[in-house]
Amino acid sequence: TRTPLIAGNWKMNLDHLQAVAFVQKLHWTLKDAKHDAESVEVAVFPPFTDVRTVQTLLDADKIPFALGAQDLSSHDSGAYTGEVSGSFLAKLDCRYVIIGHSERRAYHAESDEVVASKVQAALRHGLVPVICVGETAEDLEVHGTSAVPVAQLTAALAGVAAGAEIVVAYEPVWAIGSGQAATPEQAQDVCAKLRDVVTQAIGGDAADRTRILYGGSVKSGNIAGFMRQPDVDGALVGGASLVVDEFAAIIRYQK
Ligand code: 13P
Repeated sequence: TRTPLIAGNWKMNLDHLQAVAFVQKLHWTLKDAKHDAESVEVAVFPPFTDVRTVQTLLDADKIPFALGAQDLSSHDSGAYTGEVSGSFLAKLDCRYVIIGHSERRAYHAESDEVVASKVQAALRHGLVPVICVGETAEDLEVHGTSAVPVAQLTAALAGVAAGAEIVVAYEPVWAIGSGQAATPEQAQDVCAKLRDVVTQAIGGDAADRTRILYGGSVKSGNIAGFMRQPDVDGALVGGASLVVDEFAAIIRYQK
């Protein structure tokens, strides 16, 4: 059985001061609601400039959220102006790192090869890569839902050792920030195919343990439908992860 993972990708929102207020408020909201922290794993993915601040707060106040970054360099150190090494993130207690988000692929020309090398970098530093895949509206018309995400995940997992710990996020590009989420059935269909890719790449036991998330216009009103699907193990939430009560309600989808 896989522990569900509800992850908040803040994108380029919340500076380090806003991050402190947000994390404290989310923690108290969940505590007031007597949320069982063991039943659902919560992770936040702040901008790089907030990571140290959030780490310090989680540690000082014993807040049971996992921490992740939104990207990393494929290199470990050196003359790469503006980049951030996985080793730095690991030293700040990051457990996760998002790789290959559609916004990185679209605005920073990240190819499947770049994504694969970043997956390698994450694993080298003991970080769990949250590998994002998904088809654009145009891909959907030409190839249907699953062909592009299946090809992207196959490429991202090339060279990953059997048994590696990874997380996969299926994020149809047409669903991101559009208010137009996939249906639970569409998400299940693609996530099941992605689990087959994981099985082929790193083995059946690892695939059974791998959390596969759905992302794209997830809200408190639609989360339960996704979570009822056997191959959907959580959500990668953008806009709704920036509103405390809304994100708390998504985390408490069982209630
Ligand atoms: P929205 O939840 O805002 O659609 O964003 C999804 C996303 O891109 C998370 O990584």
